[in-house]
Amino acid sequence: MELRLPSLIVARSHTGRDVKQGLEITSGTNRLGTIVFGIADARLGRGSVMLSGIKVGFLLAIILGMGSAYAECPGNPNAIGTSRVLAINPSEYSQIGTVDYEETLPLNDHEVVLTFDDGPQSPYTEQVLDALAAECVKATFFVVGEMAREAPALVRRAYSEGHSIGSHTQTHPHLPKLGFRKAKEEIEKGMDSTIAALGDPNALAPFFRAPYLEMTDRLEHYLGSRRVAIWSIDFQADDWEPISADQVVALALKRIEVPHKGILLLHDIEAHTPAALVKLLRELKSRGYKIVHVVPAAVAAPKAASVSSQAAPSGVASRPTPAGPNLSPAFTGEASPTGAQLQSRKDPFGSVDSAHTEKHDAATAPESTASHGTACKDNPTALGTSRIIVVDPIRSHRVGTVQFSQTLPLNDHEIVLSFDDGPLSPETDKVLDALAAECVKATFFVVGAMVKDSTDTLRRAYAEGHTIGTATESHRYLSKLPLKQAKREITDGIATAAAALPASAVPAPFFRAPYLETTPALDEYLIARHLMLWSIDAQADDWQNITPDQVVERALASVEKKGKGILMLYDIQPQTAAALPKLLTELKTRGYRVVHVAPPGAVSRDTMQ
Ligand SMILES: [Zn+2]
Repeated sequence: MELRLPSLIVARSHTGRDVKQGLEITSGTNRLGTIVFGIADARLGRGSVMLSGIKVGFLLAIILGMGSAYAECPGNPNAIGTSRVLAINPSEYSQIGTVDYEETLPLNDHEVVLTFDDGPQSPYTEQVLDALAAECVKATFFVVGEMAREAPALVRRAYSEGHSIGSHTQTHPHLPKLGFRKAKEEIEKGMDSTIAALGDPNALAPFFRAPYLEMTDRLEHYLGSRRVAIWSIDFQADDWEPISADQVVALALKRIEVPHKGILLLHDIEAHTPAALVKLLRELKSRGYKIVHVVPAAVAAPKAASVSSQAAPSGVASRPTPAGPNLSPAFTGEASPTGAQLQSRKDPFGSVDSAHTEKHDAATAPESTASHGTACKDNPTALGTSRIIVVDPIRSHRVGTVQFSQTLPLNDHEIVLSFDDGPLSPETDKVLDALAAECVKATFFVVGAMVKDSTDTLRRAYAEGHTIGTATESHRYLSKLPLKQAKREITDGIATAAAALPASAVPAPFFRAPYLETTPALDEYLIARHLMLWSIDAQADDWQNITPDQVVERALASVEKKGKGILMLYDIQPQTAAALPKLLTELKTRGYRVVHVAPPGAVSRDTMQ
């Protein structure tokens, strides 16, 4: 029996809300059982949570008992094997591979990750799978949609033998040449075809590699927003060239001997690759290399935590949970109305960029809330916007109980709608249509890279009275960037939004961090710059590939937990745009009222409408 190393599983929702610790034991492709020993707080990621002695003893017994069994490869005592499973959070490792990105996988010296592109294709994919099986090695396959449709059984075989299955577009085009919308379609179709071959949406890892490794900023942002990790490579072996198997092996070895670790690209559609692989694995073993298998960490919310029935949940989360005040008790603190102050201020931008404040409309803002929007032209039964609250970042630094102890000063059954990661036409336009039909105002946290291509949509959102906040320039995981670069991400995002808005307008000094991840140093920076950091109170999992009805269900379930709060949605997701009319109707039926949040000075524009 082939047993994998039992491993601590760390399941955390992407909002950082739930951390579940457990031990998973697998045998071959069958999960034998999962022992969950409790919900711990996020500090366990840094190894500081105390477990009871009995539980630790039990855990150690299992690890020690199975540790030796794990290394065995049936029928091949000299196999190189798979030394460990590395579970990565696609949000955290959103762009990996030193050929294109600054970051790569967290590999130790002499650790190699094997990847295969462009298949499946008979008989080469079978031969590659045979070679991997003979050495008990697990790899990652980046499958082309059309190829998967031709040979679905091969995709299923790779998956059932424990390999990770990622996607590589539908037809292997040069994505930058297609334009954003077509390219996005290629990516989505490729995923759909691979899922169709696998027969299970959870079987596809959220891993993507671009044909020819060609990406654009906008596609990178799009995939980041979809929580799909973009894989580049660390080295390759030119196995698509008409060279011999020996030459492929020689090139692979020569190139790995420089960094002594990394992601190797091979192609399972080439005739010489299977033979090269057999030799390469022998050579790697003799040189002391180890093979690491990469799987997606279970990052989904608990309800959808079955990321993959086979590969996903094993492995230790590779990085400690980022430090910061933002993983403090979830949904425990009572909303504190003192958090947001209803004051007017003429210069909401503070010191961020004086050029922006010059453009700012310094009309006097109401001292507090304005009753507004009860009448909705053409729709007497509209949900409407029940009131506006003006919040001043000088007084109110952070809101959202998912991360902080306070949120906006909302009454029972009052919610604030907020949208992240756009704008993107036509999805954002559909969201705006739905909001307009119900006379509802929302807050949009826009990404600079998206703004550049959907300027008209951004201007429309502004013209229709919505609040425009920002969410960085390129949607990077801020807690991983050097502080200087993270600050730039924030200020560039503001500058891009400001440039796209009408000359008289500036973005609201409202900021939401991608993946809700910041650091104490960044929090300080935001406070100093008078930027209010928004977290959330409720969300709908709508970054996932779920149906519009599921978006409605999850949004309502999340909102009902507290009966009020800031709801986060994604205006770039088609399912969200489709769900919004129904969600607004349902909120009205349940007695919810929508509150519009504005920075000081901005309300004059809004109330004039
Ligand atoms: Zn390719």
